[in-house]
Amino acid sequence: MHSEEFDIGLGNNDSSIRTSAKNDYVSFWNNCAKSLSWFEPWTETLQWNPPFARWFVGGKINASYNTLDIHQDSKSEKPAILWEGEDGTDRKITYKEMFVEVKKLANVLKSLGVKKGDRVTIYLPMIPELPISMLACARIGAIHTVVFSGFSSKSLSDRVEDSQSKIIITADGGYRKGKIINLKEIVDDSASSVQFVKNVIVYQRTGQKIQLNEKDLLWHEVMQNSSEECDAEILDSTDSLYILYTSGTTGKPKGVLHGIGGYLTHLYSTYKWAFDIKDTDVYFCTADIGWVTGHSYVVYGPLLHGATQVMYEGAPDHPDSSRMWDIIQKYGVTIFYTTPTALRMLMKFGDDIPNSFNLSTLRLLGTVGEPINPEVWKWYFNVIGKKKCPIIDTWWQTETGGMLISPLPGIETIPLKPGSATLPIPGLDIEVVDETGNEVESETKGSLIIKTPWPGMLLGLWKDAEKYKDVYWSKFESLYYPGDYAIKDSDGYLWLLGRSDDVLKVAGHRIGTAELESSIVSHNDVAESAVCGIPDEVKGESIIAFVMLKENVSTSEEQLRSELRETIRTQIGPIATPSQFYFVNKLPKTRSGKIMRRLLKAIAKNETIGDVSTLEDGAAVNEIQSAFQELQKNIENQKK
Ligand code: ATP
Ligand code: MG
Repeated sequence: MHSEEFDIGLGNNDSSIRTSAKNDYVSFWNNCAKSLSWFEPWTETLQWNPPFARWFVGGKINASYNTLDIHQDSKSEKPAILWEGEDGTDRKITYKEMFVEVKKLANVLKSLGVKKGDRVTIYLPMIPELPISMLACARIGAIHTVVFSGFSSKSLSDRVEDSQSKIIITADGGYRKGKIINLKEIVDDSASSVQFVKNVIVYQRTGQKIQLNEKDLLWHEVMQNSSEECDAEILDSTDSLYILYTSGTTGKPKGVLHGIGGYLTHLYSTYKWAFDIKDTDVYFCTADIGWVTGHSYVVYGPLLHGATQVMYEGAPDHPDSSRMWDIIQKYGVTIFYTTPTALRMLMKFGDDIPNSFNLSTLRLLGTVGEPINPEVWKWYFNVIGKKKCPIIDTWWQTETGGMLISPLPGIETIPLKPGSATLPIPGLDIEVVDETGNEVESETKGSLIIKTPWPGMLLGLWKDAEKYKDVYWSKFESLYYPGDYAIKDSDGYLWLLGRSDDVLKVAGHRIGTAELESSIVSHNDVAESAVCGIPDEVKGESIIAFVMLKENVSTSEEQLRSELRETIRTQIGPIATPSQFYFVNKLPKTRSGKIMRRLLKAIAKNETIGDVSTLEDGAAVNEIQSAFQELQKNIENQKK
């Protein structure tokens, strides 16, 4: 693979962690779990009834206790959240204030009849009341199910119905790109009439006029006289903490169910190993809490450690593309965690904008969500990190709960390779296999698989054990199948190459979408790209590339086509050259910012488009569709 390496670390080297994990992963995690506060110890570290894993069985614990109560002696005045509103207003919430609010809301929920195991849907924008609501549920053993506030009524009511939620917590509205999204109205349109819903609690974020219905309660009214006394419920380690629906990149979202003790152990450990978190750090993760990254590395991971973090309400490019750099400068952010899609968008505007801000407080950078193109990695490293910050490229899924593959500068210094998520975390056995499940040689492409259970592993899919078995455990016997395509290089580094389903098969060769897209993005004028295959009588599949250009590009399309062909020929080989390049202004993306190649493929093959409830912007689909129809006409004309 790529040979370029970057030797940069934070001076931490503790090889004993890898050694002990290798010797016995069960007792390794057993020791990790001791960093949490337990009401009662567990009797069995791992109960493994494939494919169901239960961690720290018999142990009694509470997630809200571990994120709040334990900090009250030493950190009560420390800010937990430095909140930045989209409109530039800010709020500071200390650990003590969080604690009080969570207990009061927990009492409100109790008074509304919410009991252990009941589901509560949280449909809030990125405001402190969102983590407060999650922790209030966790405190009393209710299962929270957060629905991203950008979702429309159908997506919301589907999830409320599927989880059979008793309560919905929402806001009058939320800000996004300067506009107000009328969340309460969306709830009224759909979810509040769902049979199980008893009450809707409404937080007034915008102060706009709303209609109050029979089930509705105003947040500030119910909180006003609520008691500040509320002990954390003593729960089983294996009880459910939350349901979260996946991003839906490959189809209908799945209701992923996570437990308490194992999940928190995984997060406590990985947050420390990957982010090297220190008491003085100011951490900023740009993920919306509506996604798993927000659950694990905005809410639970940082709060378990008593960290201070910046939470931002709005769009990363509002009012313009300098917003992220402005926030880093304003709060003196030391650790910044974002996505490749956000970085590609920000990189599109050139270096002058970030260069005009003071980013010198940064000491560690991270990315998650998609493979990061090496070109984008280098930009992040050079321009944002000024060549002094390690980048952690963290591979994981909603299902895995926390990171499984990532550099871990908190415990070791290893050479970084742009585009590789590097090595599995300690205690994990991850391999690359062929279609029959046999491990492939190094430098050979195949499916990523996981051989042993890990503590953050999902308990299952909500009320669907069969689907759980079918999706993750049926492709290869006794191996967890994440659905990603990968390669392991001769140093044991893992390179994620995209989804297995999206692999391009051209004239007997298999090419990962990430390889090809990264090659296209390495061209100076290109901001973003998505490739997909369409059936071809001769080659089996021929490749179509959709290309989005950077701002102010003056090169002609014809010139670009020929340069892109040349780039791919030299970087990958002639076989991978797309038969068509199409220049577009947008690409269809999920709400979490991932390109939906499934959609591109469907359009390319003239098939009907399936579930698009998680799509960012419906316009992009239409644009691609008309772009494609135009393209097909062109081809037809050329044939004549
Ligand atoms: P669905 O499962 O509904 O199709 P999704 O897989 O996009 O949606 P998530 O759980 O949010 O939902 O995303 C996990 C996936 O994101 C991984 O399986 C992988 O494809 C991709 N991914 C996450 N982090 C990385 C990374 N660092 N490098 C490469 N790919 C990544
Ligand atoms: Mg997935």
